[in-house]
Amino acid sequence: MAASASPEIERLIALLAKLPGLGPRSARRAALALLKRREQLLDPLAQAMAEAGRKVRPCSACGALDASDPCAICADPHRDGTILCVIEEVGALWALERASAFRGRYHVLGGLLSALDGVGPDSLRIGELVERARATGVREVILALPATVDGQTTAHYLAERLTGAGVEVTMLARGVPVGGELDWLDDGTIVQALRARRPA
Ligand SMILES: [Zn+2]
Repeated sequence: MAASASPEIERLIALLAKLPGLGPRSARRAALALLKRREQLLDPLAQAMAEAGRKVRPCSACGALDASDPCAICADPHRDGTILCVIEEVGALWALERASAFRGRYHVLGGLLSALDGVGPDSLRIGELVERARATGVREVILALPATVDGQTTAHYLAERLTGAGVEVTMLARGVPVGGELDWLDDGTIVQALRARRPA
């Protein structure tokens, strides 16, 4: 038995290890699982990846990923085009769609402003957002960004850039999660929840 895997396998492992959540160890396990289950796993996965790579593109309007441009949400006449929900990445769009609570349209920024990582306004789809917000019909822009330092920095920057665009700019509420026990919450969440209290 060879001391190390063949170059083909090593390459597969090295690529798998670049995926979020997979380190070198789990990448090795994933590669082994793929190679052991060629018909059920390896071939269909390779096919699905090739097809997604060929067909899926960012929507030119909102930045979401879809096989059509404009994407299904932008093209849906039943979605409310007067409300734009601004999100960091497509994962947030999927989460909001799973909750079926939002019937407007989205705008994917493609990241957050970060002085530490050298991400400035020009690296994000901020110009496109201001342009869309100014366009006729949009009356509200919801900033649905993470409750992190970068998320809040980005939200404040966007709120500033959107002044004068003639739209109402709102943010998601912060507070007690559904099913959350107060004594398990961190101080920051409790402070936010108290500030954002509403009539019962
Ligand atoms: Zn779209």
